[in-house]
Amino acid sequence: MNLWSPTTLKEILAKHNLTLSHGLGQHFLTDFGILAKIVEKAEINSDNAVLEIGPGAGVLTRLLAQAAKYVVAIEIDKKLLPVLAETTGDLGNVVVVNADAREIDFDRVMTERTGGEFGFEGKPYLIVANLPYYATSPLIFKVFEEGYRVSSMTLMMQKEVAERITAKPGSKAYGSLSVACQYFSEPRIVLKVPRTVFFPPPEVESAVVRFTLKENCLSSEERLRFFRVVRAAFATRRKTVAKSLAGALNLERHYVEEVLLKVGINPNLRAEQIPPESFYRLSQEVVGGKW
Ligand code: SAM
Repeated sequence: MNLWSPTTLKEILAKHNLTLSHGLGQHFLTDFGILAKIVEKAEINSDNAVLEIGPGAGVLTRLLAQAAKYVVAIEIDKKLLPVLAETTGDLGNVVVVNADAREIDFDRVMTERTGGEFGFEGKPYLIVANLPYYATSPLIFKVFEEGYRVSSMTLMMQKEVAERITAKPGSKAYGSLSVACQYFSEPRIVLKVPRTVFFPPPEVESAVVRFTLKENCLSSEERLRFFRVVRAAFATRRKTVAKSLAGALNLERHYVEEVLLKVGINPNLRAEQIPPESFYRLSQEVVGGKW
């Protein structure tokens, strides 16, 4: 099925009487070269289980199913289920789950769908997706905040978000998303994608980011603390990190300054000048403290 041809895609959508929803970020890929590149960059092998967020009409899903052992695809839009049944129903290794990816527990759904007799219980999996752009940051934060057993993510997103994710300390684009992504993974922009390969074309340029997740054994409490401190530090970007933390966490300024100095951070810096590792040390100092 030559699904990536815009004509076929339009025919399938017309057959199911479907119009695409801008609100749900429904911009479907219609370029085989780009789809194949995403799968190549994801470095999938035939033993892998893959979680796809937003399969849409199933164009990427079909290619993922060729490369991986199992694909679990989470699609929010009920109206796309008959389309997905038509485009992926013949594949024995694809399961479509109708759910909001922001709400669902990824580890649990992977255990339910690829655990037990399928042999993937508790094993790491890959996430590959052409994301709905409105939900890019929440979905990425969710993976790191929950500490899911993901080994890599290969995600298409708006180019500006990709640049924020890979921005270095000291640059304007560096923020809490950069800190989280760079602390928990090594993110790399692996592909720039023009608007013209989507149907309908979005208003912005896109990029694919590959995240290789780092091994790390933070407890859920440590993760919670890490994200709380990072968000508090960036709460007021124009203020010094000491002021911002004290304000957002409701703490005495001199106490915050003491802790910052203790972990080697100059209290007069702004959050955007502080590298990810230092945020980790800062959040660890919280243990047993009065934060
Ligand atoms: N994978 C398809 C492709 O590459 O052509 C479609 C990608 S399209 C950019 C995003 C898809 O995500 C749409 O199918 C949309 O309905 C779905 N989606 C939007 N919000 C979602 C959510 N919160 N959870 C799961 N899927 C969602």
